[in-house]
Amino acid sequence: MSLCEYTTQKDIRIGSRLLGTLKWGIFAVVLLYMCVILLTEKRYQKKDSIISSVHTKVKGVSDADSRIWDTAEYTIPSPGGSSFFVLTNIIKTENQKEGNCPEFPIPKTICSQDDSCKKGYADPQSNGIQTGKCVQFNSTFKTCEVRAWCPVEFKSTPEPAILGSAENFTVLIKNNIHFAAFNYTTCHPQYSFRRLDDKVVDERLYPGLNFRFARYYKNQDQTNLRTLIKAYGIRFDIQVYGTGGKFSWFELVMFIGSYLSYFGLATVVIDFLISLYCQSCCSATSGQRYYDERKYEEIPGPCVLTSCQELMFVSFVDQEDIKMVDKKLRKSLQMTIGKIIKRGKMTDNMVLAQLELSSFDGLEELPLYPRSSRKSSAIPSWCQCLKCLPATRFEGQLCCRYQNGECITNSEMFRKLVLQKQALVHILQYNNPLLNRHSITKKQLAECAQKQYVQWRFGSNMDILDFARIPNCCKHEIDNMFNGETCETSLEHADKETKMQSTSAPSSKPLLKQPPL
Ligand code: ZN
Ligand code: ZN
Repeated sequence: MSLCEYTTQKDIRIGSRLLGTLKWGIFAVVLLYMCVILLTEKRYQKKDSIISSVHTKVKGVSDADSRIWDTAEYTIPSPGGSSFFVLTNIIKTENQKEGNCPEFPIPKTICSQDDSCKKGYADPQSNGIQTGKCVQFNSTFKTCEVRAWCPVEFKSTPEPAILGSAENFTVLIKNNIHFAAFNYTTCHPQYSFRRLDDKVVDERLYPGLNFRFARYYKNQDQTNLRTLIKAYGIRFDIQVYGTGGKFSWFELVMFIGSYLSYFGLATVVIDFLISLYCQSCCSATSGQRYYDERKYEEIPGPCVLTSCQELMFVSFVDQEDIKMVDKKLRKSLQMTIGKIIKRGKMTDNMVLAQLELSSFDGLEELPLYPRSSRKSSAIPSWCQCLKCLPATRFEGQLCCRYQNGECITNSEMFRKLVLQKQALVHILQYNNPLLNRHSITKKQLAECAQKQYVQWRFGSNMDILDFARIPNCCKHEIDNMFNGETCETSLEHADKETKMQSTSAPSSKPLLKQPPL
């Protein structure tokens, strides 16, 4: 990876009216959705939240309960602020002072004798703390005595409501709105009112709003007295909310950027459809295989947990697929279990070699080693072809076969493709046209022979070629061939053969021939 490199994705273009229509259809829907959101939600605007100050006043005078009620009377507890309370009804208990008196009669407090009352007990609903006595409340009821502000409040709401005329009062609302980001102040708010409490009256839940407050004063003998008022009314909470907006290029670009990803939806949907098409539960059709092979390149997953310490590819002459070994060897490479990957196809070098070979066929006599020419004791246990030599390293312990049988080096094709010097010289010159055939070294020929073997047995997959392992028997055969004699003499020998071939054997054989293995 370099700073001066740019990496781009490679796409596959599929000519299909259906998929093309689907793509543009999804694009159009996304574009339409984007435009609707942009315009309805004004996403091209920079938004700012509201800063507001609200001041309220209730105005009105009412004559009720034999007296005049003005602003100071019914705006309780404090005027102003963003909420106001309009008094509608009251229960007033005057001249209360601390002492012992009977509790207001409700089922819980009615008693017949002192045993029914408990000293020190205070119910959440009660007005005071029970003294433990049962006393007469009125001619009808006896109730528990309490230490409280006496007399206790009379729990009965006046009907009709004392301040029913509150519905005619006037409310003044002063509302200042400022948008700090735009330095803009207005007062054109729109008001709407909504009842928040439960409209269905449930007696147990004490519907509406009520609270108590007291006004204290001292008597002539300096005892504390108070007037208790239980106020019923309606509280209005004024909530100001809203946003200010102004066109902004930045916001517009941000919006478009965030919605561009939705266009990728087309790719996801179409890829999903193609993958559905390519997948098959039992046997794939030829059409499915075609798309599958072109769209997906399959490689085995890396061993993430153990970290790939080694990577070797092995091809056996009696196995269709290639074995991949990506772990540290603990026994011979022949015996190590690996992953199975598919074999690639032929390369142009291979085709060239075969083109050339067809004209040399049968002219170069190569020594053929019989299969059982060695003692069985000298053959390593991992060898299946009986031609491998003992090797110390696990990597070198690899045979050309998976199961017992004839060695690949005994085949005619091995001798033609891998050992034929004339063909190797041609390949070297094909790769380097100005190469002098007399300057070719034995090492170059041996390396070329090894490459020939790898391309022949592993196919054209360039990822594999660098990590392909050559079987022990083949390695020895190549070494015997190119390191046993001098390069010069073998080349002269090959030249003579070429001349003989040009006069005596006109080429009439098929140009392309697949290897028999
Ligand atoms: Zn072998
Ligand atoms: Zn072999």
